[in-house]
Amino acid sequence: MFDRVAILDWSASGVPKMGKDSIWIGVSDASGTTSRNIATRAAAEAAILALAQEAIHSGKRLLLGADLNFGAPAGLASHLTGKAEAMALWAWLAERITDDARNLNNYRAIAALMNATLPGGGPFWGNGSKAEIEGLSRTKPALPDWLAEHRKCDQQSKAEGLSPKTLWQLAGAGAVGAQSLLGMPMLHRLRASLGGDCAVWPFEPIEGKAIVIAEIYAAFIAPDVKALEARGKVRDAAEVELLSSALWTVGQSDRLAPLFDIDADPALLREEGWTLGTGHGPALRAAIPASQLPPRLRDDCFAMPQGVAWVPVDEALDRLKSALSPVTGSETLQTAAACGRILASDCIARRSNPPRPNSAVDGYGFAHSSTKEGVNRLPLVAGRAAAGRPFEGAVPPGHAVRILTGAILPEGVDTVVLEEDCATDSASVTFDGPVKPRANTRKAGEDVVEGAVALTAGHRLRAPDLALLSALGIGEVAVHRPLRVGVLSTGDEIIAAPDRPALPHQIYDANRPMLLSLIAQWGHEAVDLGHAPDRPAVITGKLDRAAREVDVVLTSGGASAGDEDHVSRLLREEGTLSSWRIAMKPGRPLALALWKGVPVIGLPGNPVAALVCALIFGRPALSKLAGGDWTAPQGFTVPAAFSKSKKPGRREYLRARINAEGAAEVFASEGSGRISGLSWADGIVELPDGAAEITPGTPVRYLPYASFGLT
Ligand code: AMP
Ligand code: MG
Repeated sequence: MFDRVAILDWSASGVPKMGKDSIWIGVSDASGTTSRNIATRAAAEAAILALAQEAIHSGKRLLLGADLNFGAPAGLASHLTGKAEAMALWAWLAERITDDARNLNNYRAIAALMNATLPGGGPFWGNGSKAEIEGLSRTKPALPDWLAEHRKCDQQSKAEGLSPKTLWQLAGAGAVGAQSLLGMPMLHRLRASLGGDCAVWPFEPIEGKAIVIAEIYAAFIAPDVKALEARGKVRDAAEVELLSSALWTVGQSDRLAPLFDIDADPALLREEGWTLGTGHGPALRAAIPASQLPPRLRDDCFAMPQGVAWVPVDEALDRLKSALSPVTGSETLQTAAACGRILASDCIARRSNPPRPNSAVDGYGFAHSSTKEGVNRLPLVAGRAAAGRPFEGAVPPGHAVRILTGAILPEGVDTVVLEEDCATDSASVTFDGPVKPRANTRKAGEDVVEGAVALTAGHRLRAPDLALLSALGIGEVAVHRPLRVGVLSTGDEIIAAPDRPALPHQIYDANRPMLLSLIAQWGHEAVDLGHAPDRPAVITGKLDRAAREVDVVLTSGGASAGDEDHVSRLLREEGTLSSWRIAMKPGRPLALALWKGVPVIGLPGNPVAALVCALIFGRPALSKLAGGDWTAPQGFTVPAAFSKSKKPGRREYLRARINAEGAAEVFASEGSGRISGLSWADGIVELPDGAAEITPGTPVRYLPYASFGLT
């Protein structure tokens, strides 16, 4: 059992470095998981030592995992040191490797030195520096025949389908050699500093040790790391957070022991080491707490009960609302940088607004009990009360003080009279009574009281909200990560962009630019997935890419049930398609499905229907997925400037705009191919589900584009 697990993602960078491919430390314990990024090895070594010492002092047990090779393939240590022990190699390296406070180091020279010392030319390769280094080739040389490419534990990982790199490789993507040469001296020093309180596994017995240090390997949980990375998390941060939380969870039960229980030759283990968790990838992945992974929707979330033929719009909206839940994680941002983001938790006022009672005007302040009806003449005290420069001391009864807007009411003042209602010489102020008690003052907390919920989770922050949060002393907010929305057009007839030639039977993709800009205007991250012809293999490829890179996909075209409706066919084969036949015009079925866990919203191909469905269904659906409130457009009742006899049974949306008389006129044609009408309009008129007889002057509901967030 461990009270805490820390995971170190090490780096061989030659300069201080932050972000991807730099040093990260993840820590998990009963209070949750955190990670931090450290720019240099020296600072990280100090941080690790501090973590370990804190654990020792507080009587806690710490498992420290580091992602570097703790040993070399058998043979290296004994050739260099005369002892077939990894820890002898650590000492050998610690004597020779230099690594300063700015990450400047000599690992390449030491690798070249080892190559020169070892029989057969030595195994190290991969000179990633500009300068040539004698004895360290850029490419892979023949391996001396007395050395293996991989350690025994790495061979086992390879057999299980992973691709661990060899210690011998010092440069190139995923190489582990350089960071191991720079890491072993660090482990050597750490062990020396911690003395008898620590044990390095599998070299030393770990029973009863406060600090256990072990080698770990992030590839065991790679698919989960990828899922987080696809949602914008730095890979290394994801690795240390997921590994530490998985190991901590495993450590809370008896599932931890098997990880330490390995059946390998003890002499070999002493020399090569072993990666903790080898062969236990699935158990580690299963132990990652759900709270650490991107949230997912339930497989059957879009299911419609059997036998439902046509669903009214409002019922479809209700179903969609309850089917969807947020799929984006959260992060903390400075309030000033959070405009447009969706709150992931409630914001609690850290102080009241106003914090103290103050004056609402420029004038004179006094105690109301000192005033009377008729003419009042109060002597003025010296000094004044101004915003940011409070009056020190108290105003005696029967006296007044000069006070300015925003100034805290001095002790002895509860009422203010407006400067324009006073006459004054420098010694006194005169005004007519009676004066209302507390006139022209603001009570402390009359706007918001400390501790009150100022804004609730799900609210999208706008400029005025930043004013509120700042006034309440809230400098940081937890917000959802932006929702990544992929847009895919389908159809053999579609030409991706209007700068390409088109044959008479081909048409330009009108939906994709429209949907991409809608998504951006709604505050999400729009990802262009391009266009796919009606070829299942191509659509599958696009959807697979989408499942890795985005949180939700909007497709247009191919979503009905016809021969050429390949999107719906693929989604049906995947097993999760639900075609919602919604009683509305324009619009055909809305195809809703999950593709590899990622929601797909299949809009009609027709641009008029695609826009209306995107506004009515897409906008609130994306808001909910992004962690926001369910949104409904704000409509206005206006007189019609048109006539129409509407049949019952479905809701209708007409392209419309407001004329000079304030009445709604509609586009001349209801033809669903008339894209010009979309552009002509400034909004849509929504006609109710039932029958309606409309003549000029009949009140109708008008939904401006702006109320759908269009600019
Ligand atoms: P579908 O839903 O694929 O049957 O398409 C319905 C109609 O919309 C057809 O006339 C398509 O050519 C047209 N259409 C489909 N996708 C697009 C698009 N991206 N841009 C313009 N028109 C489209
Ligand atoms: Mg089509």
